[in-house]
Amino acid sequence: MIRARLLSLSAFFALHASVGAAPPAADDLTRWCDEVTHVIPQVKASLCVSAGLVPWAKSVQGRHIMLHEFTPKQRSMGRVLVIGGIHGDELTSMSIVFRWIDQLKQAPGEAAQYHWRVIPVLNPDGLAAKPPSRVNARGVDLNRNFPTAYWAEEAHRYWTVATNRDPRRFPGPLPRSEPESSWLHHEIMTFKPDVIISVHAPYNILDFDGPPEGIKPPARFGPLKLYRLGVYPGSLGNFGGLKEGIPVVTLELPHALDMPKEDELAQVWRDMQEWLRRNLALSAK
Ligand SMILES: [Zn+2]
Repeated sequence: MIRARLLSLSAFFALHASVGAAPPAADDLTRWCDEVTHVIPQVKASLCVSAGLVPWAKSVQGRHIMLHEFTPKQRSMGRVLVIGGIHGDELTSMSIVFRWIDQLKQAPGEAAQYHWRVIPVLNPDGLAAKPPSRVNARGVDLNRNFPTAYWAEEAHRYWTVATNRDPRRFPGPLPRSEPESSWLHHEIMTFKPDVIISVHAPYNILDFDGPPEGIKPPARFGPLKLYRLGVYPGSLGNFGGLKEGIPVVTLELPHALDMPKEDELAQVWRDMQEWLRRNLALSAK
């Protein structure tokens, strides 16, 4: 009975989370940007307000989940979905995604040939918590809440045995039980990205999950070198890469609070574009 109720709740969010892709009211956007840039000082409020963000979903506490869409002028060479701030306390993971939005707007270069959807802050309630928290407002680690194979058997067992019930890693009562993960799941299934790029901190590596055949993992993006961590029950890499067969590149920046140096950030962008150029044209239909 409880399970049925939870399932219907999850279905409700899946249905309602994707509504609304109209530009936000100016006051609404200013408030959202004030709240975000107050916590992430590396992001200027003016950059946030002019980033072309559109509210596409809402968090548990009713905050907007914003998305920047960049569409190519010519035929698209592929679809790229970028996600920052799945974990609300990894501030650099959001800061770098705001920079990429600015780059796409100002000087996209080769990136202009792809259709991008960019979500700078997936977990706005976690970011707004004092102090910012990894989990969402209901204490769920969104990066353990995706419907991976054997979630029901593995997610809670892993949480209990391997993490000793770490409250920062609670996978939630059911996969997609949270509006943030439910909406991102819906977005993946409808946008059908050729590549997902997800940003975290602070492990200082580049991770890759994907089907064994096809796209080659990148060796490095700037100072981040490939080191495959493996997958967890309910993680985005597990869901996207293994279940859906969409390559997922995960950047783990070296610090959650301090950004890499300017030249390193520039090299990350260049290496990412080079890797997309080599791989996306092959896979895009
Ligand atoms: Zn993380």
